[in-house]
Amino acid sequence: MNIENVTAVALGEKLRSRKMSVREAVEGVYKSYMELDRELNAYSYFNIEEMRADADRAQKMIDSGEAPSILTGVPIGVKDNICTKGAPTTCASKMLRDFRPPFDATVVKQLKHAGMVAAGKTNMDEFAMGSTSETSCYGMVRNPWGTEHVPGGSSGGSAAAVSAGEAICALGSDTGGSIRQPASFCGVTGFKPTYGAVSRYGLIAYASSFDQIGPIARDVRDCAAIMDVISGQDGMDSTSLFCTQGESFYDSLTGDIKGTVIGLPEECFDDGVDKAVKENVEKMVKTLEGMGARIDPIRLPFIRYAVPTYYIIATAEASSNLSRFDGIKYGYRAGACATVDELMIRSRSEGFGSEVRKRILLGTFVLSSGYYDAYYNKALKMRRLIVEGFERAFSECDAIVCPTAPMTAPKAGSFLTDSMKMYLSDIFTVSVNLAGLPGLSVPCGFDEAGLPIGAQIIGAAGADKAVLNIGHAFQMATDYHEQRPGGVQ
Ligand code: GLN
Repeated sequence: MNIENVTAVALGEKLRSRKMSVREAVEGVYKSYMELDRELNAYSYFNIEEMRADADRAQKMIDSGEAPSILTGVPIGVKDNICTKGAPTTCASKMLRDFRPPFDATVVKQLKHAGMVAAGKTNMDEFAMGSTSETSCYGMVRNPWGTEHVPGGSSGGSAAAVSAGEAICALGSDTGGSIRQPASFCGVTGFKPTYGAVSRYGLIAYASSFDQIGPIARDVRDCAAIMDVISGQDGMDSTSLFCTQGESFYDSLTGDIKGTVIGLPEECFDDGVDKAVKENVEKMVKTLEGMGARIDPIRLPFIRYAVPTYYIIATAEASSNLSRFDGIKYGYRAGACATVDELMIRSRSEGFGSEVRKRILLGTFVLSSGYYDAYYNKALKMRRLIVEGFERAFSECDAIVCPTAPMTAPKAGSFLTDSMKMYLSDIFTVSVNLAGLPGLSVPCGFDEAGLPIGAQIIGAAGADKAVLNIGHAFQMATDYHEQRPGGVQ
C-alpha cells in the first residue's frame, strides 16, 4: 500500500471496513521506512517484528467487531523521549543509549488500548533541547522538503517522518515549540495541548512545568482524533487535568468559525519576520476573515521578554531533572574511575552532548545562591506577567494567529554555530508554553525556495477544541496541508 498521502482517520476507516488489513498498513510504513530513512534519519529505532505482532492484536480487535477507536490499527511513530516498555527510549543521548524502560508511558498505554500500532521511535534533539534535530547521538534528521535543510526540532524525526510518508502520524513533545516548529518547517500539522491535557507520566522530563506531549499529523482532523486517544486525567501525573468532558475533540470539528474573534498581534509581524512568512500568514488571516471570523489587531508587548524568561526557567528545571543521570542511579557509566566524584564527573561529561552540558551549566548558574534572585526569581515574575498578558488578550479575542517561527527551515549547521540565533527563533512558540496554552501549527504556504511556512493558532487555557476548529476551518478551505515534499532546490 502507498501510505504517503493517506490520513490516519481515512486509514482507520479502511481498516475497520476491512478494505485493508492492519498488516498491510504496517508493511506500507515499513516500505517507506526502508526507502527513505537512510537519507532522512527520522527514526532512531524501528522494529518491524514488534509492529507485526501489534498489528495482529489490532486486527483481532477489528475482526471481533469491537474496534475501540476510529484509529484502531493505525501505525503511529513515538518520539524517543516517551517510554515504551522493552524498547529503547534514549532521548537520542549516549547517556540513555542502553535504556529499555520496564513500563509504558501513559500515552503509550492509551495508544495500545485504542489498538494503535507503535511504529518505532522517532529521532530528536538530545533530551529535546534544540530547534533543529541536529544534536542527536544518532546523527541529524533531514528535512524531506530539502535535505540540506533542518526539519526543525526537537521533534524533527516525528515531523520529517509524517511529512515524507515514513509515518502516518506521530507523537512529539513540546517544551518551547518542539511540536509546532518542526511541524511548520516540514509542512505538517502539529498540536501542543493545554498544559495538563495529556499525561506526562513516562515522558522523560526536560522542563517539567512546560513539557507537553501532543500529535504531529497530516491534518487537524488526525490531530483531534489522536487527542481523543491520549488526553485525559491520569493518576500518575498530578499536573494532568480533567479536561475531556463533553464532546470528543474529533466530533467538535465543525469548521464553522463565524463570529470568532481572532487577534492579530502587531509584535509578531515586525521586521524580524521573513517577508514570505509574514505574507502567507496574513493571507491565511484573510481566508479566515472570508469564512466569517472577525480580525482585531491586539498587542502582546511582553513577547520580547519571552525568550530570556523561557531559557532561564527551562535550563533551571533541566539542571534539576537531569541531575539523576549520574552514572550511578541512571545512565551511562564511565569506566575505570578511582573515586565516586570522578565517576560522576566523567559519566556526565562523556554521556551528555555539548548543548545539554551547556544548558545544565546555565541552569545551575541561575539557581545558584548568588544569582537566584537576579535571574530565576525574576524570570518567575516575568512568567506571571506573561500569563496575565495573555489573559488580557483573551478577554478581547477568542484566538490569536501569528507565525509559528519567524523563518522557514534554515540550512543544516547554521544554528549550530549561532546558538543565540537559534534561541531567538523560538520567540513565537515559547510564550505559549510559559502560559500553558494550547497552540496549533498549520501549513499556510511556501517561501521562494518552496519550503513550507507554518501559522500558529493560540487559544486560552482549555480552549483546545476551539483552536483545532479554527485550523480545521482553514484546512477545509485550502490544500497546503495536502502538499507533499518534492522538488526543492
Ligand atoms: N527549542 C526549544 C529549546 O531548545 C524548545 C525545545 C522543546 O520544545 N523541547 O528549549
